[in-house]
Amino acid sequence: MLATAPEAGPEDGDAAAAEAGRIARIRATLARMYPQATTALNWSTPFELLVATILSAQTTDAAVNQVTPALFARCPTPEAMLELSEDELGAMIRTIGLWRNKARNLLAACRILVERHGGQVPRTREELMQLPGVGRKTANVVLSNAFGIPAIAVDTHVFRVARRLGLATGTTPERVEQELMEKFPEAEWSRAHHWLIWHGRRICHARNPRCQACALRPDCPEGRARAGGASLEAAAEVEPGRRPAGEAGGAGRRSSRE
Ligand code: SF4
Repeated sequence: MLATAPEAGPEDGDAAAAEAGRIARIRATLARMYPQATTALNWSTPFELLVATILSAQTTDAAVNQVTPALFARCPTPEAMLELSEDELGAMIRTIGLWRNKARNLLAACRILVERHGGQVPRTREELMQLPGVGRKTANVVLSNAFGIPAIAVDTHVFRVARRLGLATGTTPERVEQELMEKFPEAEWSRAHHWLIWHGRRICHARNPRCQACALRPDCPEGRARAGGASLEAAAEVEPGRRPAGEAGGAGRRSSRE
């Protein structure tokens, strides 16, 4: 005898509505907490953002912002960067992690930009990911910030916070990216990326998340498990728009060298 799938009952609709409400509250709370969330890297052109994002792998944005003013002044274009030897470029970025590899990748990327793209940064994920040092996360950062193309870059903060909030269950960045794209409206993807990064840096720390001071806790399965019904600390209301500690970058998009 064939087994039949259980029919959806009214309780299934209730659960779906409750989950939709929970996600809507999370989105609204994040928007209120981080209205000006944006990248902490300083940049003013797509090429500068591409370079800064490649440099930021496994190092802090603040460290990248220390080296980029002189680097961008000397190398505002791929053509100008190609005038440097690998040693000369390395000397300009040697205070950041993996500088030898990054210098090599930057020069190889610049060669491709000049030879295949007329010195311009391409606007598709596929083309960006063909550049040395550029993975899916970096490509998404460039697409969303430099070109306004909706994308959710999943870094370590986005991955952790999304899973704790129950917005994603995937075990790979690609899967989490897909789940987040289903949870947030497309017009909100780029902001959602920044909201989750800022929340991860300010409150939802990897080792000791400040659940008792987190305004998202009522809607967070992990937070409820960690902090139970303890009352929210006074610090629950973060100062809207304030940049996370340790980030020295500017606050705007291109005009303010974000
Ligand atoms: S309640 Fe805790 S685990 Fe949940 S988002 Fe806030 S800090 Fe992170």
